[in-house]
Order: sequence, then structure tokens, then C-alpha cells
Amino acid sequence: MTRRTVVVVGAGPAGLAAADTALAAGADVALLDAADRPGGQYHRMLPEAYGARAPQAIQHGHHAFTRRAHRVLDHPRCSWWAGAEVWALERPEPGTVAPPKVHVLSAAPRGPRRRHVLAPDALVLATGAHDRVLPFPGWDLPGVYTAGAAQALAKGERLAVGDRVVVAGTGPFLLPVAVSLLEAGSTVIEVVEAGERVRVARGWLDHPWELGAQAGKSGELLSLATALARRRVPYRFGRAVVAARGDGRVEEVVTAAVRTDWSVVPGTERTTAVDAVCVGHGFTPRLELAVAAGCALRPGPGGASTDVFVGVDGDQATSAPGVYACGEITGIAGAPAARTEGALAGWLAAGGAPDARSLAALRRRRDQGRAFARRLADAHPIGSGWPGWLRPDTVVCRCEETDYATVRAAAEDATAGEARVAKLATRAGLGPCQGRICGPTVAELRRLHGAPQPPGPPTAPVDPGPQHRPLAAPIRLGELARPSVEESGP
Ligand SMILES: Cc1cc2nc3c(=O)[nH]c(=O)nc-3n(C[C@H](O)[C@H](O)[C@H](O)COP(=O)(O)OP(=O)(O)OC[C@H]3O[C@@H](n4cnc5c(N)ncnc54)[C@H](O)[C@@H]3O)c2cc1C
Repeated sequence: MTRRTVVVVGAGPAGLAAADTALAAGADVALLDAADRPGGQYHRMLPEAYGARAPQAIQHGHHAFTRRAHRVLDHPRCSWWAGAEVWALERPEPGTVAPPKVHVLSAAPRGPRRRHVLAPDALVLATGAHDRVLPFPGWDLPGVYTAGAAQALAKGERLAVGDRVVVAGTGPFLLPVAVSLLEAGSTVIEVVEAGERVRVARGWLDHPWELGAQAGKSGELLSLATALARRRVPYRFGRAVVAARGDGRVEEVVTAAVRTDWSVVPGTERTTAVDAVCVGHGFTPRLELAVAAGCALRPGPGGASTDVFVGVDGDQATSAPGVYACGEITGIAGAPAARTEGALAGWLAAGGAPDARSLAALRRRRDQGRAFARRLADAHPIGSGWPGWLRPDTVVCRCEETDYATVRAAAEDATAGEARVAKLATRAGLGPCQGRICGPTVAELRRLHGAPQPPGPPTAPVDPGPQHRPLAAPIRLGELARPSVEESGP
């Protein structure tokens, strides 16, 4: 009997777990990641060349991760594609039931990247999320970082983004960011969480027995909160960074008390001298490949119309034949939940027995992870009043420098039509990041300013018609012109 071939895209907690169980189920596995090392965002490691004495510092679950990484990468049936970016998925001909072909750009030591095409029996998407940031006046000044970027520099390079830093936004991710900054040598002046203390506490403390199921994550958050308390870093609820100012780079931030809907309470503004500010308002799933594969999407637990994830069934299978999804693209619930989903997806994608005894426990943990995602969304919703922080000239799309006044005018113009037309008119979302950063913000502003809305969230599979963007990642024309290598299997 020929072995099944499984391609896993993304080697974060979810993808690595998927590769592990797919190998255990007997498949040949190709594990691909655009990064040079496995681990994804959570297990971001110092480069080996640094020769760090304690590379595991500020890494939770480091030993379990390195054991799994070795088991997977050293496995004779696993091919590990480091620095390999999946730039397109090619859907099968209509009427053919097969997963899409996987178009990969692999790193070459010198010269242009090489193009490869993989045709697996099953595809597991584990592409994770990137951090979301709401705009405010001055957020485009040098020295203003997304919380994720600051975290990546602190964890992956031990680089502090500044000496005097304010960390702001919403969600438990602010905790590891503040602690990593302290470890990297910054003074964290304060952490400001826009959510009200009561709302956050109610979100987390309702049904406390459910948290027991996520003991690892809860324990991690508690140890981070303790680390902040020990260093006497104030953690303020119901406040937000509403402006950053400076001559050529950030020199001060304005924080203000905000109401439940995040509108500013007049007279509560306070100015603090800083040389960096790190802001994060949750995460946005990286859906490009799932959309390219034709997977149906579903609304997130928060219920916001811009909040959508890949829809999966009880087996982590998407609506696209042979395509499975796991980790943060199916819901934001942290690394342990991503690992559990990955383990299920990998096993089933590889044709592992659906009634294996260990699956019952995995399914139970996966459901607990989904409950955790709902709790996270309940405790840290984004208030609808944040556009009150904006001025007409506040940049909304940084790539194209489109300001708030332009986005608002297009939303209010009854003749401007649907989002795609407004996009061409305002250019918001057309720059190099292709709307990854500004997309949810522009969609939310358009909704708030009365632009015509699609009926409900975009949950249907995206039709590969003229709106379908075939490229999931930038590719040079020279690379496109070179012939690709058809791989016979992973
Ligand atoms: C910048 C950032 C930092 C974070 N730091 C922390 C932290 O310190 N602590 C914490 O609790 N949570 C952190 N998180 C949340 C964290 O992402 C999750 O809890 C966890 O890592 C999710 O696992 P995952 O496997 O779903 O995705 P990820 O860990 O994000 O892994 C996805 C992987 O897919 C790869 N990928 C994506 N698209 C492609 C493509 N087209 N081709 C090839 N490879 C691709 C990426 O390179 C990445 O390695 C962070 C999130 C972000 C965005």
C-alpha cells in the first residue's frame, strides 16, 4: 500500500504537532515554514549563531518543544523545508476531489528563490495569526511598535525597542510582551489595558472550573502577572493610548481613561515621556491560503463582523476536500489549544484511525480550547468607540498613507459602492501588506460610517472568479518566469 503524503504549512505549535501525529500515523510529511526555524510565534528562539548560554530564558514549554522539534525534523519520513514560503494554492479542476497543489518558493543560498510544486494527498494549514493594532494619531511615528514586533525582537534577538516603554492595548498578550521587554532591559513604565477591570474579571472568572482545563496557559499568565508585580510595573485597566507625539520619533504618549465602548472620558488625558510604545489589540488570522484553497470561513466568537476564521468540523477538516486547518487560523486560544488542534488535524489528514483511543482526549481538549477562545473574546472585546481617538489626518493605511478623512468620505458616499470599489478609490489595502494590517480597521470604519455591508460575515468559500487573488505572498517576476520543479511527493 502506498503511504499517504501530507503537506503541513506552518511549523508553529499547531503545524509541528500536526507533522508529529501525521508521522505517527504513518504518512510521508513535508513541513514547510517561511521562517528558518520551527516554533512559529510562540517558540521564537535566539539564532544559534548567538551561542546563548540560556536560550530557553523567557520561553515557556521550551523542553517539550525542542523534544518534539527533534522528533519531527529528524524523522526519516519528514522533509523539513526551512525558509519556504507557500505563495499560491492551485485548486483542482472542477469535479476533481483532491486538495490543491502547493506552490512553494524555497530559499536558495545565493540567487533567486526556487519554485516547487507539491501535490499531496492531504494539506494541513497552520499559518497562525498576526497582531492587530488600532490606529491613533501618531501611531505611524518611529518608536511605535506593534506588541508582536516588540515581542519578536525581544524574544528572537534580545533587543529592547526602547529604554522607557509603555505597553498598551487589550488582551493577555500584553503580559508576555511587558515581561519580555523587562528581560531585554527596558523600563516598562506601565501596561494599559483598555478593557474595564470588571469586564475583564467577569470574562476570566465566570465558570472558573473551565480554566482548570487550560491549566498550562492559566499558570503561564499567572507567572507573567507575578513577574510584573515583582518589578512593580503598574497594570491599569480602562485606559488606552490615544495619541503619540514627537519630533521625528515618539517622545511622549497620551493615555486616557476610556468607557466600556472605549470612547475617551474627557479630562482624563495624561502625557508620559517615552522613547517607545508597544500596542496590540488582539490577533488577526492569516487566512490568505485558506481563502485560496476555497475553505469556508466562520464568524469569530466575539461576533464582530470583521472577525472571521477558517470553519472546521469536529475532525479539523475544512469545507475544501483534503484540506485541514488548525491553530490560530481557526480561533485565537493560545499555543496549547493550537497544539491540540494540530495533533488532531495531522493524525486525521494522514488517514489515522478516527476511533483511536487517544483521539477522544484530544477532542475533549480541543473543545476546551474553543471554550477558552470564547472566554478570551468575551473578556477582551474591542470597543466600538475607538474611532473617536482619530483625527481627520490620522493615517489608517500606512502603506498607502490613506487617512481617516478619506476612508470616512468613501464610506459615507452613497455612490462609492462596495468595498472593492472604495478600495480602488482610497487605495487603502493596496500597498505591500495587502491590507493585512489595515484591512479589519478599514472594514470596521466603513461599517461604522454607514457603507453598504455584505449580508453577514464573509463565511462562504471564496469563488475563484475575478476577485480571487491568486498570490498569497509577494513573488518577484524573475522568480515567476523560471520553471518550477514538480516534486513527486514530500
Ligand atoms: C508576533 C507574535 C508574537 C507572539 N508571541 C506570543 C508569546 O510570546 N506568547 C504567547 O502566549 N503567544 C504569543 N503569540 C500568539 C501565538 O501566535 C499563538 O499562541 C501560537 O503561536 C499560535 O500557534 P500557531 O501554530 O497557530 O501559529 P504560529 O505560531 O503563528 O505559526 C504559524 C507559522 O506559519 C508560518 N506561515 C504562515 N504563512 C505561511 C506561508 N504562506 N508559507 C510558509 N509558512 C507560513 C509562519 O512563518 C509561522 O511560523 C504571538 C503572536 C504573534 C503574531
